[in-house]
Amino acid sequence: MSIELGIIGGGPAGLTASVYACRAGYRPVLWEGSSCGGQMLLTPEIENYPGVSSVTGMDLADAMTAQAEALGVDIRYDAVRSVRLADGSFRLSFDGTEDVLCRALVIASGASHRSLGVPGEEEFRGRGVSYCAVCDGRFFSGKDVAVVGGGNTALGDAMYLSRICRSVTVVHRRDAFRADKILVERAAAAENIRFVLSANVEAVLGTGRVEALRLRPAAGSSAEKPWEISASAVFIAVGNAPQSGFLSGIPELVLADGYVPTDERCRTSVPGLFAAGDIRVKSLRQIATAVSDGAVAGTEAAAYLGG
Ligand code: NAP
Repeated sequence: MSIELGIIGGGPAGLTASVYACRAGYRPVLWEGSSCGGQMLLTPEIENYPGVSSVTGMDLADAMTAQAEALGVDIRYDAVRSVRLADGSFRLSFDGTEDVLCRALVIASGASHRSLGVPGEEEFRGRGVSYCAVCDGRFFSGKDVAVVGGGNTALGDAMYLSRICRSVTVVHRRDAFRADKILVERAAAAENIRFVLSANVEAVLGTGRVEALRLRPAAGSSAEKPWEISASAVFIAVGNAPQSGFLSGIPELVLADGYVPTDERCRTSVPGLFAAGDIRVKSLRQIATAVSDGAVAGTEAAAYLGG
């Protein structure tokens, strides 16, 4: 099968690219490995998307997906396993379905959660270890839980969980947060959220399911030796890693720590190949910047095809 424009990833960047390409007269095929929405689906509340004071990630994801579908984007729920160059086109391979050739391709595959890599994390995954407060928080209603990380995800998760759980302990490896000041102030003001700063998680402990975390003092801590805090669940929010492994079949594309370098028109070093959203080398990874990239990439891909 051969098409004009393919888009890999159904987060805000890929969906926006599809909308702009449709409006430019193309009918792109967008591949999404799970559900459209990307990391929005993991975000309890979004308050910094322009024009919308407050919306759940799920609702914003649904609205973006519905808009793309209404315009005629062909959304296919299938994971792209590899991309190779084939006579100036891009050959996409899947598990079990036939290859597709695209004349132009937008990569908007985003990033997935990072693991802590400590003992107990794998063992208790799904039994108290979670990477998604929105998905799993309700299982710990009225319990004491912990959140690990100091970014917007960790502080947003802590606020969300504080409304469901008895207490939330935020464990962060430094004494300063990376998260937006407004989120830190809100979490600090919540009665049932406490911060444990300058501490690393050494292990997730329990019998059959999570019961505690063993913490180790980090630089700047007043503690001298490891200690334990009890928690029925730990929500790990220590950032993301780029989902770009499927691009290794394009040796011409040199990645930077797994992220795709582009110019400001979202063009990569390979003609016809564009990148948008969190997968791109950039300084600010937000929904607002993902949709901005998507608009640029969708428009540029259409111009490439028409040129
Ligand atoms: P992030 O901003 O990269 O923050 C990751 C946090 O985890 C940092 O505090 C980091 O500590 C910590 N960390 C990393 N590796 C660790 C390890 N091995 N052990 C312990 N701690 C570790 O990731 P994020 O919070 O998931 O956010 C990702 C992107 O999405 C960001 O650009 C963020 O602004 C955006 N986002 C935005 C919103 C919103 O605006 N509503 C919501 C969620 C996410 P250090 O600070 O010490 O490096």
